[in-house]
Amino acid sequence: MGRHTNPIRLVIFGRQGAGKGTQCVRLVKEFGVLHISTGDMLRSAVAAETELGLAAKAIMDAGDLVGNEIMIGLVRERIAMPDAADGFVLDGFPRTVGQAEALALLLGDNHLHAAVDLEVSLDEVTSRMKARARADDTDEGIARRLSLYEQETRPVLRWFADRDLLLTVDGLGAEEEVTARLVAAINSKL
Ligand code: ADP
Repeated sequence: MGRHTNPIRLVIFGRQGAGKGTQCVRLVKEFGVLHISTGDMLRSAVAAETELGLAAKAIMDAGDLVGNEIMIGLVRERIAMPDAADGFVLDGFPRTVGQAEALALLLGDNHLHAAVDLEVSLDEVTSRMKARARADDTDEGIARRLSLYEQETRPVLRWFADRDLLLTVDGLGAEEEVTARLVAAINSKL
């Protein structure tokens, strides 16, 4: 578990298929943080057929973004839970500048330490995603999500860069190699 005594708060970015999920599991071990994935939270809500799940399903199947208001409410509740006080790595949020601004307000003095961009080329993620089997991984769904990533999420990376929080890490290579790069980059910000 984490060798760090102070809670560490991170955000991870990366195109769909960049390997964020895998690397988050490793970051959890390294830094003793909680993994908060908004995609996983939404998929649980869909599976449980909650009101949120019912509303989100069609949006997710189309590869569109769930509304900011819903997403901000979801993250607000999650980071207010006691286990999040030990730090977290947020995966899948913020995905729009509106969400980034809301997150900064929610966190207040408990600000983020870094926003990491796991950089993998478009060609590479496209072939990786065709090899996995998730309900929203249709050709149209993938194309839609990748184009929304450029439109909506690219500006969020700039938003973090402007605040000197952005770390760009090469996501190509063996899993443990990528983890070592991530850990070194994050440690440079602690
Ligand atoms: P991926 O990174 O492969 O798109 P995620 O698991 O992060 O997958 O998200 C799956 C889907 O959940 C997204 O396509 C979107 O519909 C919805 N979603 C997740 N996080 C957010 C968010 N922060 N804002 C809006 N929609 C979201």
